[in-house]
Amino acid sequence: MVKVRKRAEKRLDVQTVGRNRIPGVAFTKEMKDGYTILVPMMAPIHFSMLKNILHDQGYRVELLENSGQAIVEEGLKYVHNDTCYPALLIIGQMLDAIKSGKYDENKIAFLMSQTGGGCRASNYIYLLRRALKKAGYGHIPVVSFNVSGMEKSSGFRLTIPLIFKLITAIVYGDGLMAMNNQIKAYEIEKGRSARLVEHWISRLTSQFNEGEGFTIPQMQNNFREMAATFTAIPCEHKPKVKVGIVGEIYVKYASLGNNNLEEFLAEQDCEVMVPGLLDFALYTLDAKPENSRLYGGNTISALVCEAISRYFQRMQKVMIDTIALYPNFIAPPSFSHTKSLVEGVIGTGCLMGEGWLLTAEMLELVENGYGNIVCTQPFGCLPNHICGKGMIRKIREREPLANIVPIDYDPSATKVNQENRIKLMLAVARENMRHEQEANKKQNKPDVPAPSRQGTDPFGQLGRMIPRLSIVSMLN
Ligand code: SF4
Repeated sequence: MVKVRKRAEKRLDVQTVGRNRIPGVAFTKEMKDGYTILVPMMAPIHFSMLKNILHDQGYRVELLENSGQAIVEEGLKYVHNDTCYPALLIIGQMLDAIKSGKYDENKIAFLMSQTGGGCRASNYIYLLRRALKKAGYGHIPVVSFNVSGMEKSSGFRLTIPLIFKLITAIVYGDGLMAMNNQIKAYEIEKGRSARLVEHWISRLTSQFNEGEGFTIPQMQNNFREMAATFTAIPCEHKPKVKVGIVGEIYVKYASLGNNNLEEFLAEQDCEVMVPGLLDFALYTLDAKPENSRLYGGNTISALVCEAISRYFQRMQKVMIDTIALYPNFIAPPSFSHTKSLVEGVIGTGCLMGEGWLLTAEMLELVENGYGNIVCTQPFGCLPNHICGKGMIRKIREREPLANIVPIDYDPSATKVNQENRIKLMLAVARENMRHEQEANKKQNKPDVPAPSRQGTDPFGQLGRMIPRLSIVSMLN
């Protein structure tokens, strides 16, 4: 078997990929046809659409959703145990997938993102190649997903039109996620909102395949209809504890990274809000102009990044403005507003990991009524411990009712321990909600404002049909 693999490595022309000296197998044009590219799942709504777009470009992509303790064990076996937890999990998940026997190891490739910043996320790919080699799978190609030109492979190209398509899908994903989160906690018939998400993913995919859904007017139409269809889901009017999730990008979104945090919070009868993925892309784009402003340097690339960012922010504005027309939804804030919130709290030159964006997302959630926050922190993540856990005191100075709990995720942290800490935070949240309800009663204010669904669909579509909840800010 070892000999067969060695022969395969030779045949596949093992070469040094990129500037790094760790050898890897290049993903060639010829592989595009017969190979399946395996991608670790992170944000399910967004990644499903990204997968469909890549599929339309001729790539056979599969999202890895295997889970369980075996993944952590695989990761610990092949990655040094002081490596960031997300890297350990992603690499463990990939190795677990190969060993599951579900895939032909000579016909798969892995795709991994490289952020290109100063953080270790730029180097995960080398850790993966090393782990694959150590495990005897050095012949499997690893494709780098990055927009900073760090590694190029002839078989996978991120062209400018493709990047724009992927970003459009992320904007749709943010809108869908925001609306789904605000409905699913209150829906009368469980699962309706999730089915609607599926419907929209397939509908948008069909549009993408036809080359539609990418222009601003088409996006406007889609968001209008999307909001109307979510509005039409019958909901019960019951005040719930509203919880926001922030943290390092992988543990924030991936259920594998955060031990099914969203599911746990739903079981605890909470409404959950997770800030959008586009903001992370905009934050990454913002690094160049920010660095150039603070330290000087290449102003041309800073100007290009600013121009691209402006375009993406325009798409974000379409999503925000359309959702904002429906008063029972809280529309996600714009990137520029989120950025403005950190003034006087943390410098915008703080760009390692999630940097200032992590602090900003906590402030943004408090502002929108999600003052109960779980700040997910992976083991080995110094930048996010500083900008997350390290900023809690400062945030509470500005927002005294912010109820934030930092939770560490690492191979040895038990789920029970994490959930007990979250339950303590929820106990405080429920107490705050009770006080607020009592105060409302004294002032003859309703706990949940009367449903105003009728006629709140500004386009006179499905929103007229069914009344549903109104949102209460616990911290007002
Ligand atoms: S952000 Fe944290 S977890 Fe991610 S690469 Fe950097 S140090 Fe590691």
